[in-house]
Amino acid sequence: MIGLPSEPGAVVLHIEDNPSNRKVVRHILRSTSYYLLEAVDGEAGLAMAREEKPDLVLLDMQLPGMSGYEVAAALKADSSTRGITVIAVTASALSGDDARVLDAGCDDYLAKPFRPNDLRQRLADHLPDSPE
Ligand code: MN
Repeated sequence: MIGLPSEPGAVVLHIEDNPSNRKVVRHILRSTSYYLLEAVDGEAGLAMAREEKPDLVLLDMQLPGMSGYEVAAALKADSSTRGITVIAVTASALSGDDARVLDAGCDDYLAKPFRPNDLRQRLADHLPDSPE
């Protein structure tokens, strides 16, 4: 990267324990104006969300220790983080998962596996983007 963007993009916090999945999202977001933060588990992700106040959290629901469901509930229970958009990334599109993530407080969801454009579109649904 050379220099700073003239207009800072929206901040996306990706909470995901799988390094390969983090790498995929990192790669996809390179072609956007989003600024990416990463956390490797629920506890670290929740702490980072409280500290950095990202515009959006992309949340893996299958996390070791604190689950994505617990992270979403904690974010929505706290007035200082309630306004952060939470997109759940679910391991399957099994019937019932969708309702479950929305019940946990997530604003939207994306089923794995997803295509790069699926993720970009889902983010664009919630955030302003200005691709270069
Ligand atoms: Mn996981």
